[in-house]
Amino acid sequence: MSMTQDRQLVDIAVAELMISSEKVAHVQLNNPLEHALLVLVKSGYSAVPVLDATYKLAGIIGKTVILNQILGLERFEIEKLSEMRVQEIMQHDVTTISKENNLLDGLNAIIDNNFICVVDEEGYFDGILTRRAILKQLKKEIYSSKQYLK
Ligand code: AMP
Repeated sequence: MSMTQDRQLVDIAVAELMISSEKVAHVQLNNPLEHALLVLVKSGYSAVPVLDATYKLAGIIGKTVILNQILGLERFEIEKLSEMRVQEIMQHDVTTISKENNLLDGLNAIIDNNFICVVDEEGYFDGILTRRAILKQLKKEIYSSKQYLK
């Protein structure tokens, strides 16, 4: 990409591209697995953020980890869905980004993730940045740049 294009990409803030917290499906640390599975199946998402009681980001939980957890040797141990809590099996170590970061920071962070969580300096959850949002913006930039459409 040209220098001009690079400058434009770093001028686009994560805040402009993210899905804000009030529109993001999430679960709480102490929710039973059955609630998390319900949210995941009903929303159609493969994973959602986990928040604590003060709305700080605590982790991420996905369908696969829940299904693996309840998969016994001979049957699904469905009773575990009400016995176990989200915090016992969620992924704790998650990549985060801040609203003030830019599109190129987002691009680097999103390569290995479908979405990344946006948090403020104290860890409060601001929303998510999805791979789809990054790709849509890059497409827009490419189509508006004449050098790529010769
Ligand atoms: P997408 O790029 O829209 O396919 O989203 C990628 C992933 O981001 C989804 O599989 C979900 O894990 C997560 N995601 C997207 N939108 C939401 C949302 N509104 N609430 C919770 N998670 C979301």
